Amino acid sequence: MTVNCAEEGCDSEATFELHIPWSENEFVCVGHARVRGQQDGVVAEPLDTAGEHMPDGAADRER
Ligand SMILES: [Zn+2]
Repeated sequence: MTVNCAEEGCDSEATFELHIPWSENEFVCVGHARVRGQQDGVVAEPLDTAGEHMPDGAADRER
């Protein structure tokens, strides 16, 4: 299954699911997962297709 990035104007393959406390979950590409994962409370969870390419901002999921 292939999902496209939810960010407007981006048609990269989504490889991360963003868990957003104040909104619906979104599927985004690794680049946008890295950006969005910087936001407080947002957790970027790699999809199966993402392999081991964790964005820097996604490591602190134990809050
Ligand atoms: Zn994207």
